[in-house]
Amino acid sequence: MSNWDGRVVPYPTERAAQYRASGAWSNQTTGQRLHGVAARFPDRPAVITADESITYAELDRRTDQLAAALVRLGLQPRDPVIFQLTNRLDTVLAWYATIKAGLVPVATLAAHRDNEIGPISRKVGAVAHFVDPQVPGLLDFARAHAEGHPTIRHLFIAGESLGEDIDAGAARELVECIQSGIDPCDVVAFQLSGGTTGTPKVIPRIHAEYWNNAVMYSRTLGWDEHVRVAHLIPIIHNAGITCGLHAAHSVGACLILATTDAGKAFELMARARATDVLIGHGHYQALLSPAFEPARQHLQRVVLSGAKVTPALFQHVERTAWAGQLFGMSEGMFMVTPLESPATARLTTVGVPVCAEDEIRILEPGTEDTVPDGAVGELCCRGPYTIPGYFDAPEHNRTAFATDGFYRTGDLAAITTVDGVRYVSIEGRIKDLINRGGEKINAEELEVLLLQHPTVANAAVVAMPDPRLGEKTCAYLVSTDGSQLPLSAIQAHLADLGVAKFKWPERLEWVAALPRSNVGKIDKKSLRADVVAKLDAERNATAAKGSEHYATR
Ligand code: AMP
Repeated sequence: MSNWDGRVVPYPTERAAQYRASGAWSNQTTGQRLHGVAARFPDRPAVITADESITYAELDRRTDQLAAALVRLGLQPRDPVIFQLTNRLDTVLAWYATIKAGLVPVATLAAHRDNEIGPISRKVGAVAHFVDPQVPGLLDFARAHAEGHPTIRHLFIAGESLGEDIDAGAARELVECIQSGIDPCDVVAFQLSGGTTGTPKVIPRIHAEYWNNAVMYSRTLGWDEHVRVAHLIPIIHNAGITCGLHAAHSVGACLILATTDAGKAFELMARARATDVLIGHGHYQALLSPAFEPARQHLQRVVLSGAKVTPALFQHVERTAWAGQLFGMSEGMFMVTPLESPATARLTTVGVPVCAEDEIRILEPGTEDTVPDGAVGELCCRGPYTIPGYFDAPEHNRTAFATDGFYRTGDLAAITTVDGVRYVSIEGRIKDLINRGGEKINAEELEVLLLQHPTVANAAVVAMPDPRLGEKTCAYLVSTDGSQLPLSAIQAHLADLGVAKFKWPERLEWVAALPRSNVGKIDKKSLRADVVAKLDAERNATAAKGSEHYATR
């Protein structure tokens, strides 16, 4: 296996042998897995979007041809390819074709810009960049980014016809030849971490485990080829690839690829007869709206993920479908509430790991001591699909993993026993990030960027509650000269630095100094409480104004 010049941390030999023996790992590549399913279910629908659909046979053929076209252009096995694509059929084609050509997709977001794509593309040595031309400004950004870039040689535009002239048989032969040369322990895709310090870390996922991770998820939910799996959140996210794309395709099921517009997504779900959907917390509220009602018709299971579920939401879903929860992360570990779990467990916990060989420890933060069941501690995990290390990050890996290889998630959790079964509940987090409707914003990264503004002497960003997205970013700033710039000026500064828009603060508080704890650290707890109090006061003032107006009418 190539270890990418020592930049990919291998699984320890003993554990790798165990996972191979148990079947948790596969000796086939992802391209071979997809082809196997397509050969079993050639005429079944593989993907339905708002305006297109494709069968398994077509998907297999078109991705073979596109893979052959990429090879014809001179791309070589293991060449990393940056993905900035949205939820459309072309993205699915690009994903599988890239993998079939032996190349490695780098799962960045369409919203990322130079601040993110610049360092990541250089770190992995990306040679190509796939972009969605419908995202405003993205194509121009990609062109500018490629100029003078040390390794990028190709820019691909989603939707452009590539490889359709290549003979399907010849393309298949080429793909088979490439796939047979891939070591299952080699990297299949690079995902990005949202939850660590500084700029995003790169997560190498390998063939042996990545598709199987999706198989395990689909098994937990009892899926077969007859289910129709809707997905609304970015399909390129790890949750999109694992729980949407790969999980549906691992059993020959149909992926109903919607977009984040809940109204349109629910309409498509109704039309395409969706039986399953994963709902991130950015869409929790939308489930309570009348627009969701038509989508219920064929819906059997709704998996909720990303934030605590209220009894009202849970009962609303359960009126017509099974409701459950998922905890997942790009680094690996997935937990789901099993189908047969009692409602209490499905309402109050995120379930149990999807693989029998997954191991969990809840540790006293900063130590290696396990806390007793019921107590809150840091969720730490290891197993057949949880990475043993970030890509090219030896320094960071030293603290991100406990000595026996357990990954420190930075999430707070507890073990809750229901009817004799030990479930995991998520109780908050230690890592300093903002979870804006599923997109993670690293506080430290943003603070460093804010400090580059000449008027900002000190900066601390914290999450503020938002009814729709769960959390948004509020920046507390100390001015260098007493001037208090408006939010728009700070946002323009971040735009100039090429920072993805979802990371821009949506509220500013200029303060004389940042509060400090008694050990001298910035006291973010008090800042979070401060912004909550301010939001409450503003809400009360608006409500009072409304009733005053009503009283005088
Ligand atoms: P990502 O790698 O972007 O998928 O993000 C993984 C992180 O999202 C986890 O480490 C948690 O902080 C958060 N997360 C995922 N699922 C849940 C959940 N069900 N409840 C609370 N937080 C979650």
